[in-house]
Amino acid sequence: MDFHYDPQNIFARILRGEIPNNTVYESEHALAFHDINPQAPVHVLVIPKGAYVSLDHFARDGSAEEHLGFMRAVARVCEMLEVEGGFRAISNTRGDAHQEVPHYHLHILAGRKMGPMLVPQG
Ligand code: 5GP
Repeated sequence: MDFHYDPQNIFARILRGEIPNNTVYESEHALAFHDINPQAPVHVLVIPKGAYVSLDHFARDGSAEEHLGFMRAVARVCEMLEVEGGFRAISNTRGDAHQEVPHYHLHILAGRKMGPMLVPQG
């Protein structure tokens, strides 16, 4: 797989401070911020700071330090959001999954019953 990263994508611009965001948490390797179009009472995006297009790109080419930093950021965000009742974590990847922003991001959704994981296709 040949992963091409577009440095003009919206999350790259957020990381460079060119576009404002509502930050929840920031560390050396990750940034977490509220989604601009929330699909649940809690809808936070966690992104690595490195230039990775997707989950499989980050999983393949991210360093162990980046992986640990990202997962620890997820843990910290979950603590901060107080999602004891549960949450759904989603990483849409490429066209079939309707990924809109080509910088890896983990959606964390909480605060309501999420329903079935996928809507059945008729
Ligand atoms: P995807 O479809 O790629 O999995 O999800 C992209 C998410 O990014 C969407 O939920 C969308 O609302 C969110 N998003 C797009 N542009 C912006 C932005 O400029 N700021 C923030 N905070 N979220 C954004």
